[in-house]
Amino acid sequence: MNADYPAAGPGTTETSDDERPDLSNSNVREDLAMAGRCALVHLPTGRACLLPLRHQGPCEFHRPQEAQDVVAGGG
Ligand SMILES: [Zn+2]
Repeated sequence: MNADYPAAGPGTTETSDDERPDLSNSNVREDLAMAGRCALVHLPTGRACLLPLRHQGPCEFHRPQEAQDVVAGGG
């Protein structure tokens, strides 16, 4: 189940820092995090994970519009 992962180069050469490559292209929306959500944002698509914080399994990324509904307390 490797659905949402962009093709990471098999032979990464230059990046040798301790930064996690799986987090380098992601971010967390603070408003969603404060709403108790995972809030991980998939930057290439701009979608955010609306699952509960520390949910099990992979993230499910939803449109920013849906995320906004969560932040607004619509759910
Ligand atoms: Zn998630």
